Amino acid sequence: MNAPTRYAEALLTGMLGAFGLDVEYVRAEKNSLYYLDDTGAEVPVLDLVGGWGSLMLGHNHPEIVAYAKELLETGWPVHSQHSAHPVADQVGAVLNGIVGREFPGAEPHSVVFANSGAEAVEAAVKHCEFDRVLRMKSLFEQIEWNADVALTALREGAAALPDDTSLLPGDMPAPTTVEEFGALLGAVAAHNLERAATAPVFFALERAFHGKLVGSTQFTYNPLFRAAFASLGREVCFVPPNDAAAFEDILSEHRVTVLDVEVVDGVITLVEREFPAVAGLLVEPIQGEGGIHALTPEFAARIREICDEVRCPIVVDEIQTGMGRTGTFFASSAIGLVGDAYVLGKSLGGGIAKTSAMLVRQSRYRPEFELVHSSTFAKDGFSTAVALRTLELLEVDDGAAYDRAAERGERILAMLRELAGAYPDVVADVRGKGLLIGLEFADQSQAASPVIRQKALAGLLVFQLGSYLQLAHHIRTGPTASVPTMLRIEPSIYISDEEIDQLRTGLVDVCEILRHQDALTLIHP
Ligand code: PMP
Repeated sequence: MNAPTRYAEALLTGMLGAFGLDVEYVRAEKNSLYYLDDTGAEVPVLDLVGGWGSLMLGHNHPEIVAYAKELLETGWPVHSQHSAHPVADQVGAVLNGIVGREFPGAEPHSVVFANSGAEAVEAAVKHCEFDRVLRMKSLFEQIEWNADVALTALREGAAALPDDTSLLPGDMPAPTTVEEFGALLGAVAAHNLERAATAPVFFALERAFHGKLVGSTQFTYNPLFRAAFASLGREVCFVPPNDAAAFEDILSEHRVTVLDVEVVDGVITLVEREFPAVAGLLVEPIQGEGGIHALTPEFAARIREICDEVRCPIVVDEIQTGMGRTGTFFASSAIGLVGDAYVLGKSLGGGIAKTSAMLVRQSRYRPEFELVHSSTFAKDGFSTAVALRTLELLEVDDGAAYDRAAERGERILAMLRELAGAYPDVVADVRGKGLLIGLEFADQSQAASPVIRQKALAGLLVFQLGSYLQLAHHIRTGPTASVPTMLRIEPSIYISDEEIDQLRTGLVDVCEILRHQDALTLIHP
């Protein structure tokens, strides 16, 4: 029988096929995906990719499935835009409860729903820019008001003419008449207008991953995903992670001031005001796709101080790390990183619905944003209800799910560290927290085996190892988006001791293959 023509991602599926990974799964449950063998029997595969992070609660969690069925069977409104959505508010209430618990003293946060992680990131970026534009508008209104106040005071004899114009570029002499002061105000306005054209600057960290849409891909560091699309968006300024001094230096280069007038001790005085050129900083508390790198508490504390000084909002991208994956609901809370906004996605939909959300602390929230940003599908009745049930399942028993993520994660990490100890020639590093784990293999670009060497040089080693694990051990792992030598391990909280043992057996096998440069077994398991 001829294979059916592929229309959806034929190239990618073909590439997976080259590694024996183009398997069609027909059923999924907990940490297992099932395919049918030639006799039609189900074959389980241990899924350690976990939907790239969307399956904290595993595949098809029975309570979420039952609830989803109930919603559909009872005719729960799925699309009822422009109406009250108490369920969305309940999601907000639960999230605010969690924020209050993990960030004691935090103010309430407003919630804006979206459909995917990248879309929530873009909503956050848009909100930062919206806030910046409104701040710019009120700054210029204030400056205009102050000019009027000064002029009136001058005319009424309540204030003297300025005697120092050195802040104004060019050699404009100090005014000696009301008319000349009017000309000075004109020069100030022209100067400010020129400064107002300064492009907003956004910061992100080297190795960052924030999505692949037109806007969010600009914040994703790997040029593979960004370079071809750079001209479609504004260039983001990437700064080295965990180097607050570098961030401070780069940020200071982007600080811009405008001029204002003030009456000081009866004299009209030119003063500088900070212009809101800096629009926002995006950070992942643990960089996931960039190779599982955690931010330090020191860096978190310092960037908060630096950003506060210039009112630069910090957007904490918890799309990968959040929902309890690393042992707390927000990975940022464990390092004391307080954001102005947080973005959540992936497991928020319980592995069933597609949804994401942006939380903005209310003192920074611009309610008018709701009038300029929307999507047909965001905040729909189905996904918000499923998100609520998912959050309830995570929060039950004092957040036992988070403890479980931490405990299971530690167990996997301990196993991997043991492996790294036994195979220091093969394993370069083990990194991660909770159920966000990366196993980095040593560079094989100088390997004795030409086959292994060639795979490594092509950046495909991780696919070859993944292929072996899949075909020989029925274990599905994934790559990260940036590190070609790293296996990503991101299971659900239900991963069992037996499954961890299955992983250990598979990895020992892989390590032996690499140690002995046994390319034949690797390619033909
Ligand atoms: N931000 C982070 C930190 C992510 O890990 C991802 C996805 N890997 C995204 C954003 C994008 O999410 P999505 O794939 O749902 O658009």
